[in-house]
Amino acid sequence: MKRVTVPFFISHQGCPHACVFCDQRTISGSSGALPTATEILAKIHAWQGTAGNLPLEVAFFGGTFTALPATTQKRLLEPLKPLLASGAVKSVRISTRPDYIDEERVKWLSDQGVAIIELGVQSMDDQVLAMAGRGHDAASSAAAIRCIACHGISAVAQLMPGLPGDTPAKSVTSLHRVMAAGAGSVRIYPAVVLRGTGLAAMFEAGEYYPLSIDEGIKLCKVLLHSAMKAGVDVIRIGLQADADLNGDTVLAGCWHPALGQLVRSRLYADLLCQLASSHRAEMPISIMCHPSRVSDVVGQGRINLKRLWSQEVAIKVKSNSSLQEEEVIINYIDQEIKGHIVTDLKYDIHEV
Ligand code: SF4
Repeated sequence: MKRVTVPFFISHQGCPHACVFCDQRTISGSSGALPTATEILAKIHAWQGTAGNLPLEVAFFGGTFTALPATTQKRLLEPLKPLLASGAVKSVRISTRPDYIDEERVKWLSDQGVAIIELGVQSMDDQVLAMAGRGHDAASSAAAIRCIACHGISAVAQLMPGLPGDTPAKSVTSLHRVMAAGAGSVRIYPAVVLRGTGLAAMFEAGEYYPLSIDEGIKLCKVLLHSAMKAGVDVIRIGLQADADLNGDTVLAGCWHPALGQLVRSRLYADLLCQLASSHRAEMPISIMCHPSRVSDVVGQGRINLKRLWSQEVAIKVKSNSSLQEEEVIINYIDQEIKGHIVTDLKYDIHEV
């Protein structure tokens, strides 16, 4: 369901760790100071004016919320209680680490009205976690997801393919393990080398090579497809473009301001290629897809059509709201060929 999120970035607040990839202030573009009750209410009030009829969600991103002192957590959540009771705010989201989740904490958060907990899982491979300096293992992530889900709270797992020691097969296994544990949705942030981080030192010493953009797209495509098959929502692919995340701060890695769209578009490119394989010499009259998927089907600069057909300018891409978002129809003079991303595409991770 669509909603408007009122974000509070509390970068690094409560976090006693130093993961090799992390520079939270750069990632979130915020110094991470904790807002006062007055500031929280004022920001919500300001966003209420632009939300229209959409439900409002309040989110504390970036820090390790449940590692903050209990009094601080209470101070941040307390102002929201009357708004939750009146329905002015529909849900509250926090982010934290798996090793700061347990029964007591989750029960308390549930009582405060927290409906979504985002966990920085990154990988479900213990060697990758150790090399990233995470300070927890995969078992604690699985336990945290199960604990959150058991209390009726939605667990969002954040995964970071491409860390040191990671492989495409390990990334796919990580996704399957968080889904098996009960994650309701995932975010996929391919590893990016940010200036000043431990990862940057490894990269500059020639000890670590991150995924390129194209490698990241190929891997994220398989991850997205796996999640779609399992009916698990992928909320986001790639770090949010921001004034603080740019050519100066990003040294290397799979970062592009529209990475999610490039990944989705690659899925449609593969589907078109498969559907057209028996008609390679023939030009389609048109291609039909769901209205929300036209730009993904066409691709940036019509790349998906150019790859397959030299006279691509003659092909009309039409929207058809009776189609599912994952469906595409290619119309030829005497035949139409229909396909579905989830049921018709198959990927072999060893080819990534
Ligand atoms: S736990 Fe989160 S905030 Fe802390 S260093 Fe690691 S990634 Fe950064």
